[in-house]
Amino acid sequence: MQITEIYKSIQGESTYAGLPCVFVRLTGCNLRCSWCDSEYTFTGGHRMMVEEVESEVESLSPNGGLVEITGGEPMLQERELVPLMERLLASRYNVLLETSGERPLARVPRAVVKIVDVKCPGSEEGDSFDLENLETLLPHDEVKFVLSDRADYEFAREFTARHHLSRRVNAVLFSPAFSKQASGARDTTHCLLDPQELAEWMLMDCVPARLGLQMHKFIWSPELKGV
Ligand code: SF4
Repeated sequence: MQITEIYKSIQGESTYAGLPCVFVRLTGCNLRCSWCDSEYTFTGGHRMMVEEVESEVESLSPNGGLVEITGGEPMLQERELVPLMERLLASRYNVLLETSGERPLARVPRAVVKIVDVKCPGSEEGDSFDLENLETLLPHDEVKFVLSDRADYEFAREFTARHHLSRRVNAVLFSPAFSKQASGARDTTHCLLDPQELAEWMLMDCVPARLGLQMHKFIWSPELKGV
């Protein structure tokens, strides 16, 4: 597998936010989101065998716990990723998979919690989600929308309603996009959409979604990688 980094940190997003988590960040992405803060994953990385990745996870978190597979787009390496996820599940890790849903998700093991990041228009990758993947969603999965403006919010609100997402999955997450040039202050000034404004829209519209902030951006300096 081509791996950018494996590290332990605090899970910053989803309903698992706040929990210790080992992140396995795979190299390569087929999208180019305008606000992407992971461009360093597009190239480079190093080759590792599935067994080596598993062993690195075990050394960072020997007693099980949470592992997130992320990227880049992890499903570009499906052939090796599926066996890795199966091995981690067999070793009693709780496995999260962060994916855009652009690649087919049918082969993801059922016990893996999929966190599907449906791209909104402001990302400039707005049509990338494969609607056939809606059928792969399970009650423990989560769907996330990263929002940079009002148009993104309206897209996410309509998509959530049209596809009855709140009845299909464990959580629908609305999260303000963060500026990829963010540095210094650990506060909401780096959010492309003011969380207060988003909260007011969500309350006004009774949206069945959870407002999420990227917790790690408020714990560590926002430009830091590997946290
Ligand atoms: S899918 Fe993720 S890694 Fe790829 S460009 Fe978009 S934000 Fe960046």
